[in-house]
Amino acid sequence: MNTALANIRIVLVGTSHPGNIGSAARAMKVMGLDRLYLVAPEAPFPSSRATALATSGDDILERAIVVEELLDAIAGCGLVLGTTARLRSLPLPVLDPRAAATRSLAEASSHEIAIVFGREKSGLSNDETRLCHYLVNIPTSKEYHSLNLAQAVQVVTYELHMAALSALPGEIDPPDWQPQPPERMEVYFQRLEQSLLAIGFLNPEQPKRLMQRLRRLYQRARPDENELNILNGIVSATLDLTRERRAKKDQ
Ligand code: SAH
Repeated sequence: MNTALANIRIVLVGTSHPGNIGSAARAMKVMGLDRLYLVAPEAPFPSSRATALATSGDDILERAIVVEELLDAIAGCGLVLGTTARLRSLPLPVLDPRAAATRSLAEASSHEIAIVFGREKSGLSNDETRLCHYLVNIPTSKEYHSLNLAQAVQVVTYELHMAALSALPGEIDPPDWQPQPPERMEVYFQRLEQSLLAIGFLNPEQPKRLMQRLRRLYQRARPDENELNILNGIVSATLDLTRERRAKKDQ
């Protein structure tokens, strides 16, 4: 297998039809991807229907990792792409599958990448979308935007395969930063929120979309370890100062 593709995982969230899980595995197999994560599948899994539709992709199903939360499926990933048929009111930057594949291949030799697909009926929730760095939208006709889940996996994995075929060695050199994975960013976002509440910048009565907007800003920047340490240091200093002030007032 192309080594860069080995760092790319396909994540299916809350899939309700076992046939879609099987067809997604087949779609991955023919395009040379083999790491499948299932987040809280609604479909019974393992399932004979999934295995039948996977055909030669059944080994992918056997090795599929089932987890409860999206955060567990994308743990350790430096780049998380969320596929969506809809573009939301506070969108992340949007890539088409070709641009998503080029970006993925450029980064895959230095860190893990997750491409996330939503539920057949409702797609990804807002909370799930917030964990992504980019959205990926497959351009469609204006009348109807929603592909079958496994067909969406096919389009995206085809582009990954094409990008892997055409990538020149120089194009997949690792960039010199290692973006921090979602589980570390989530801890930071919670601490940031606490500190903004402590200094009165975030009004819990009227939070508006402050945290959402800040998340988007940091997700765009994708801080590396040093940068995240600095950001966490600022939060710690802010929290220490507000605690000291409060202690003085109480004296
Ligand atoms: N009604 C849902 C559609 C879900 S289709 C919605 O509005 O979000 C199931 C999944 O297939 C989606 O969550 C997405 O991961 C993928 N998908 C379907 N159509 C797509 C498109 N045009 N672009 C990108 N992903 C798509």
